[in-house]
Amino acid sequence: MLKKFLAALAFLSLAACASTGEKVQEAETLPPPSLEKIADNVWIHKSYDYVSGWGLVLSQGLVVKTEGGVALVDTAWTDEETEALLSLINAELGESPDIAIVTHAHADKMGGMKALQDNGIGGRAHPFTNEDAPARGLRKTMFSILDGKTREMLLGLEGEEGVTVFYPGAGHTRDNIVVYYAPAKVLFGGCLIRPGASKNLGNTADGDVDHWAQAVRNVAEAFPDAEIVIPSHGPMGGRELLDHTIELAEEAAAAQ
Ligand SMILES: [Zn+2]
Repeated sequence: MLKKFLAALAFLSLAACASTGEKVQEAETLPPPSLEKIADNVWIHKSYDYVSGWGLVLSQGLVVKTEGGVALVDTAWTDEETEALLSLINAELGESPDIAIVTHAHADKMGGMKALQDNGIGGRAHPFTNEDAPARGLRKTMFSILDGKTREMLLGLEGEEGVTVFYPGAGHTRDNIVVYYAPAKVLFGGCLIRPGASKNLGNTADGDVDHWAQAVRNVAEAFPDAEIVIPSHGPMGGRELLDHTIELAEEAAAAQ
């Protein structure tokens, strides 16, 4: 009887250790946000979160320093991470973002909107993004872009020196936009563009799988000079990421 009791006690304490141990490990292993310089005046920002069903997920955004000011593309996953990201940007660039653009209504792209607005950055998004954000537990941006047009130039003093925002139609979501910085030939594709090693489209829950390939073709056509292509969830590459995503999207559409 005593033996059985001791064995049960040992099991219980082991189970307790395992569950608290796991939580501590999760908190400790969530990497902090980071900034990586990839070209003159261009940085990728990275942040991580645990997403149920997906595990630890990296999300990337962009920081661009133009003659007209600093543009932040996408927040980190959370307000806390976005506060940390703003500190990193300040330390690295010596200034804060003048504008922030978010590329669609999911937490990896705009989960830190409150932190931005607390720091005086209102945020800009496609009107569809602000329509969809509240139902997904996300805070709206203060400003809209691309109202009634597909292309808009921001922070441009003259010519193509600023950042260009482009709406290619529905793909990963109905509101997904991409951002291009012509001086560095950098195209930020967000979640519309898949990393080279990906074998599927990722999260299609709010997507338009039938239009996804066409949306990427629209991006390729809009930015024929783009050389560096950056997806949300994996390493940057070249234009082959556009072709790879078109292939995955066509496969997924055919399999429906
Ligand atoms: Zn998304």
